[in-house]
Amino acid sequence: MRKLLALLTLLAFALVGPAAVAAPPDPPEEIEWVRFVHYRRPIHPGIGPEPACPPTATDFAFIRGGIRWQSFPVRYRVLNAPGGVSLGDAAAQVEAAFETWDAADDVTANFFQRETNAGVAVQGTVRWDSLGTGPTAPIAVTGVGISRGSKSIVAFEVILNSDLSWAIFPFAECALAAGPNAFDVQNIVAHEAGHVVGLDHVKNREGALLTLYQYSQVRETYKRTLGPGDVAGIRALY
Ligand SMILES: [Zn+2]
Repeated sequence: MRKLLALLTLLAFALVGPAAVAAPPDPPEEIEWVRFVHYRRPIHPGIGPEPACPPTATDFAFIRGGIRWQSFPVRYRVLNAPGGVSLGDAAAQVEAAFETWDAADDVTANFFQRETNAGVAVQGTVRWDSLGTGPTAPIAVTGVGISRGSKSIVAFEVILNSDLSWAIFPFAECALAAGPNAFDVQNIVAHEAGHVVGLDHVKNREGALLTLYQYSQVRETYKRTLGPGDVAGIRALY
């Protein structure tokens, strides 16, 4: 009995002892989240005519005066798909949207990388989740995580509203595609990926055809291609 007790004591020390003397782990990186809400275009979108096609607006805006990623590639995972779209198709559309920004940046060879291997750590996720159905319910909300220490972007989260209808449309330049009243996956994700890169909304009417324009509508696909302001924005940051 005594022997057993001694053995148990020794075992307990072996289990607890090393942890007690080990150096404390690094404190977790403090992250501040900035969120961008992507609303549907109001019925009365404002004064003035539709901008000319193709867009010529060179407007862009930085987040916090110009915060950016500092290490690449930025790895992300697509967690699910909306109703009526397969996970494979949704992931391909999401990837195409991120790759559009990757191609526009002439400094970093591989900005974004979609991960399918569950064992690899990622900096971001893209998923569909319930954000409501009312008239003011957003299309999507994107969170950008900023390290308080390095003041750089270190994490992101794109949430697309699963309560709205989604589809994959044929591309229509500066116009709405034919089909059901649904949001085009690549069109909306291209906009959200612009926030992930470090860009804020373009709010003026002249920029209505740019990817970073603050509103979107059903059957819209033209945000898939970057406008002059979008390209100028990423090239000014990186
Ligand atoms: Zn937005």
